[in-house]
Amino acid sequence: MKLQINPDIIKKYDVQGPRYTSYPPVPNFNSNFKEIDYINYLQLNSITNDISLYFHLPFCKSLCYYCGCNVFITSNEEIKQNYLESLKKEVRLIQKYLPKNITVKQLHWGGGTPNSLSNQQIYDLFSFIQSEFFISANAEISIELDPRTTQKEQLSLLKNLGFNRISFGVQDINEQVQKAVNRIQPVDIIEELYFYARELSFYSINMDFIYGLPEQNLKNFSFNLKKILEWKPDRLAFFSYAHVPWVKKHQNLLSQTRLPNSNEKILIFKEIVEKLTDHGYIYIGLDHFAKPEDELSKAFLERKLHRNFQGYTVLENMDVIAFGITAISQFQKSYVRNLKSIKEYKHQIQENHIPVFDGYIMNQDDLIRKDIIQKIMCNLFVDFNEIEKKYHIDFYKYFSKSLEKLQELEEDGLVEIRNHSLNILTKGRPLIRNVAMCFDAFLEKKDHSKTMVYSKTI
Ligand code: SF4
Repeated sequence: MKLQINPDIIKKYDVQGPRYTSYPPVPNFNSNFKEIDYINYLQLNSITNDISLYFHLPFCKSLCYYCGCNVFITSNEEIKQNYLESLKKEVRLIQKYLPKNITVKQLHWGGGTPNSLSNQQIYDLFSFIQSEFFISANAEISIELDPRTTQKEQLSLLKNLGFNRISFGVQDINEQVQKAVNRIQPVDIIEELYFYARELSFYSINMDFIYGLPEQNLKNFSFNLKKILEWKPDRLAFFSYAHVPWVKKHQNLLSQTRLPNSNEKILIFKEIVEKLTDHGYIYIGLDHFAKPEDELSKAFLERKLHRNFQGYTVLENMDVIAFGITAISQFQKSYVRNLKSIKEYKHQIQENHIPVFDGYIMNQDDLIRKDIIQKIMCNLFVDFNEIEKKYHIDFYKYFSKSLEKLQELEEDGLVEIRNHSLNILTKGRPLIRNVAMCFDAFLEKKDHSKTMVYSKTI
């Protein structure tokens, strides 16, 4: 696939906007949403039979300067152990309100660095989850791994426990880039772990990379691509570095002058797309790639792909119940986010309270827009007839403002509106966040304090 890159278009659309892991995006969650609202929602008995569980394990040994996650830097075993005890208690607090017949179809451990736990802690937490929930035999069970803290025995343990999908955070193999971002991980170590994981036959191995980091340029990024094509992981994610030092203060530690500009960034991304698609990978959604035989690729080609806070998935409309600090639960009509500080989180749980920070209950308008934005971000296509039938609306009337905004994108060759449908064209692929923004009612409110927290779309 050849991406058409026009510097004027890139400049024009390089604005701040959400990544749409949820709609409404997190800054629009409501701080008046309290524990009682969560309990009331759970008691409505509207939880889906098949569910996804997310466990947030926030510990890391050192801070990567680009980090946008919710992390806690420590090697203190006692802090980790206390947190794990709180996590277990949180599960029991929520369990009281869950129906008995639910089946876990997806289980994800994210962070932080989930594998900074000891092998014993990993074993204990996994056994606890198994004792509390019925996990389907074909469930997706995945974990994010930092190669710097991964050992071969740990990979064997994960495989034996039932983890079938692993994801290595590689980011960039170039030493200069690694130094600039305070994340030194020799490529030999990554390679050895990757091939060992291959021997263990995990169902799927993903690698995460980041483009837009300091010291990166088109030339040195090509070494990443060369290695990737040797390794051939099943899936790849290339995240655009989100430089938001006004939100993540530690990002000020990165040398701003060494950051590639939007044009260089997009040229790196163009190279990624062209190299990987030339070698058979399918370019999925915003920034993911998978081998053609991978279920994500098949779902994407059939326009049946979905997305939640854990990433792209083939599983449809499952509620996600999330545990741990800052974890976000996603239900059919609601979001609930947990407290941010470990101290407060622990305290609330000790007092037998569900540690709710904020949340959101969706109205009908939110649900329609959420559906459309999902279709744009996952399948690059919206069938107006389908939306009209599902929500009993006249698409052209209901979305007259959105269609007006899309006109400009159509004139620039990014999208095509034809035969009662919206199609994102090749030229618009790196700009699907901008397309989705046309349907975002919260951006229309032009609340500067909320838009300021977003990263640039490129
Ligand atoms: S290892 Fe991951 S989560 Fe931890 S600081 Fe680095 S980027 Fe952030």
